[in-house]
Amino acid sequence: MPITRRKFFKVAAATGAGACAALTAPPQASAANRPADPGFGMLNDSTRCVGCKVCQVACKKVNELPAESTLGDGGRLFDSPRGLSDRTYTLVKMHRDEDSGEATFVKEQCMHCLDPACKSACLVLAFEREETGAVTWNSRKCMGCRYCMIACPYNVPQFEWHRAIPDISKCTLCHDTRLVHGQPTACAEVCPVDAITFGQRDELLRIARNRIAADPDRYDPHVYGEHEVGGTGVLYLTKPKVSFASLGLPPFGYKGVPRLTESIQHGIFKYFIPPVAIYAALGGIMAFNQRRNKLKGETEHE
Ligand code: SF4
Repeated sequence: MPITRRKFFKVAAATGAGACAALTAPPQASAANRPADPGFGMLNDSTRCVGCKVCQVACKKVNELPAESTLGDGGRLFDSPRGLSDRTYTLVKMHRDEDSGEATFVKEQCMHCLDPACKSACLVLAFEREETGAVTWNSRKCMGCRYCMIACPYNVPQFEWHRAIPDISKCTLCHDTRLVHGQPTACAEVCPVDAITFGQRDELLRIARNRIAADPDRYDPHVYGEHEVGGTGVLYLTKPKVSFASLGLPPFGYKGVPRLTESIQHGIFKYFIPPVAIYAALGGIMAFNQRRNKLKGETEHE
């Protein structure tokens, strides 16, 4: 059946409207995705950390990871990478205050979000939030799309670029190696100054609030991770004049990141309307062009 120009634009408009309707479907409520029992987590107290990196070494030992170094300015060699990597799941960084020159150390690792963006973005359900509170990753399910790396607001999941069959790697809260055996995380166990406290997340929040109340001059009154990105299993305390943002903890909103990613993903794939619409539109363009070429050919032969 010949397709007229008018008919083609009508079909394109109708399919486009269907796609838009699916894309703007309201996202689900965040609370439904939060676990009733948040499980275990860690409280990282940056006011206590002395930057000894014993936690970093303990993490490497328990995960059997090799040492890693970085070439700095002037060819100087450092014994730490600049950021988390497939060989470094826990990293201690230093922040130096521009005015006072005072140093603050902060530990970086997976935040073990209550509503993890990595898990939400994964098309094959390779990520899991365990009952312990750990966010883990299953290599048998992973298809290597790396959506998790893009979705994570803290840039945590790393890809083993150097391997022929690469894995995604990140801190697992020592789920398999220690938590299932009733042991705390390796980093928390070795910290010589109790800058890392392991425990039930609810208990950690209570400890954090008690510390702030007992010594308000020492602490910023906010507990980072209590609400950010829907809540995280790893919580942070900072000094009054050292912002969380300066420690690499951005001021994210209190909504879980998956609310955004899911609304886009679910919109694109909902009832497969938008993909079908795109294919229908492309098919329409093809038919229109074929018809036009045929007519052009007929006119030239007359
Ligand atoms: Fe997933 Fe990133 Fe949250 Fe860790 S910090 S649970 S990798 S979204």
